[in-house]
Amino acid sequence: MTVPDLIFMDGSFRPSSSGHRAKLINPATEQPFAEVAAADVSDVNAAVESAQRAWEAGWRDLTPGRRTEILFNVAGKLREHVEEIAQLEMLHVGKPISDARDECALGARVFEYYAGAVTKFCGQTIPVARGGFDFTLRQPMGVVAAIVPWNFPFPIACWKVAPALAAGNCAVLKPASLSPLTALKLGELAHAAGLPPGVLQVLPGSGSAIGDALVTHPLIRKISFTGSTENGRRIMELASRDLKRISLELGGKSPNVVFADADWQRAAELSPMSVFANTGQDCCARSRVFVERSIYGPFVEKFVAATGKLVVGDPAKAETQLGPLVSAGQRARVEAFLADARKRGSRFACGAGRPHTKGYYLEPTVLLDVGKDDRCWREEIFGPVVCVTPFDEEAQVIREVNASPYGLSGSIWTNDLRRGLRVARQIESGVLSVNSHSSVHAEAPFGGFKQSGMGRDLGMAAMDGYTELKNVYVEE
Ligand code: NAD
Repeated sequence: MTVPDLIFMDGSFRPSSSGHRAKLINPATEQPFAEVAAADVSDVNAAVESAQRAWEAGWRDLTPGRRTEILFNVAGKLREHVEEIAQLEMLHVGKPISDARDECALGARVFEYYAGAVTKFCGQTIPVARGGFDFTLRQPMGVVAAIVPWNFPFPIACWKVAPALAAGNCAVLKPASLSPLTALKLGELAHAAGLPPGVLQVLPGSGSAIGDALVTHPLIRKISFTGSTENGRRIMELASRDLKRISLELGGKSPNVVFADADWQRAAELSPMSVFANTGQDCCARSRVFVERSIYGPFVEKFVAATGKLVVGDPAKAETQLGPLVSAGQRARVEAFLADARKRGSRFACGAGRPHTKGYYLEPTVLLDVGKDDRCWREEIFGPVVCVTPFDEEAQVIREVNASPYGLSGSIWTNDLRRGLRVARQIESGVLSVNSHSSVHAEAPFGGFKQSGMGRDLGMAAMDGYTELKNVYVEE
C-alpha cells in the first residue's frame, strides 16, 4: 500500500516547507511502516491564505445546486474507496477492519447527508412590528479549521468537513499526528471528485507544533475541535482573543444505567461492546455501569462472561472485535489507571493482562468496588476499562450519574417507558439512548453538556454552527 508522505494543499500533494517528517508505527505489530510529512507554521499560513483565496474566488458564491452535485460526487468517490480507506485506518490506529469499514462508509454517508442538506438549508421570514419585510440569511463564515483526534480519524474528519463545505466555507483539516493517512486520502479523493483546489487543505503535523498558529490565524473564522478536554480548554482560551467561533467535542465518562425492570440479560450481553469497542478509546464509552441492586449479582456474572468472549487480536481478521491500543504511551497510561485501582482495593472481575507479546494489546478489564473518589471512577481512562456499581433508587442513580464533570453520552435500560423518558430528561448529557447503545446518527445532533464540550457535530445543528445568522429588514 502506498502511503503519501506529503501535505495536501491547493488540490495536490506537496512536501512540507520544513521537510520535517514523523514516523508512523503500526500498533498491532509495533513496527514503523511509513514516514509522513509534518507541516510547520509556514505551511499553516500558506494553507489558510490559499483556502481564503479559494473561498473568495467562487466557493462561497457557488449555486446550492452545484455545491450539492460536487459533494454528492465526493460521497460517491469515498464509497468507491471504502476498502482502501479502511485498510489505512486499520494500519495507523489498529482498528478492527470490520469497524473501519463501517466507519468509512459512515464518512461517505455524512457527505451524502450534507450534499442533500445544501438545498434544504433556509432562512426565515419574520413578521416585525414596523411592517416591511424582514428575513434571515445563513451565511458562510470563510475558512474554518477542523482539528480531529486519532480514535475515529476518518468519520470525525467527515463530520466536520462535510457540513463546513456544505454551508459554503473552505476548510483546513488537521488530523492527529498518529493518524494522518485517511485525512490525506479524503483531500485527494474530494479533489478527484471535483472539489476546487484550495477548498479543502490537509495539514498533517503535531498539535503542539502547528495548533496555536492554526487556531490564532486571523483568517480562521471558526475552530471545530474534537479531542481532549485539556486541549479544548486551550483552544477556547486562544479563540477568545479574537472571539472566534468554536465548537468543542471533548472527553466523556458516560453512564450505562440498568434498571431491574429492563431486559437486563440483553443489556448484559450488549453492554461490553458499549465500552470496549475501539478498545475503549471512544469518547462515548459507557465506562460507568450502574445496575439496580436486585439484579446486580447476575448482571455482573453475565457481563463478565460476555466480556470474556470478546475476540482481542489482529485487526486485519474479520472476527476481531478489539485491536490494540493506539500506542505504547496510551497503553502505559491505561495501565497506570489499573495500578491505581489495585492500590485502592478495587476488585478485578476480569482482564488487565497483555494477551499478546507483540502489539499494544490489553485485555478488557471489569472493575468492581471502585471508590467514587478514585481516579478510575472519575476520570476518562480512554482504554478497555469499565467500573460497575450497584444502586438502590432512581433519584440516587441520577445524582451519581450527574456528579461527573462530563456529559457526553449514555444509555438507560428499562421497560418502563415513563421511567425511560423521566430519566433521559434528567441526565445531564448531550446524547442518550434508551434500550440501545447507539450514539451516532448522521442525521441527529451529537455533542456534549458541561466539560464534554459545546456546539454540535452532525444533523442540521452542525450546518447552523458553520454559518453566521444575518437579519435583513426592507422598508416597504
Ligand atoms: P488530543 O486533544 O490530544 O488531540 C486532538 C487533536 O488536537 C489532534 O489533531 C492534535 O494534534 C490536536 N492538538 C493537540 N494540541 C493542540 C493545540 N495546542 N492546538 C490545536 N490542536 C492541538 O486528543 P486525542 O488524544 O487525539 O483524542 C482523544 C480525546 O478526544 C479523548 O479525550 C476523547 O474523549 C476525545 N474525543 C471526543 C469526541 C467527541 O465527539 N466528544 C470524539 C472523539 C474523541
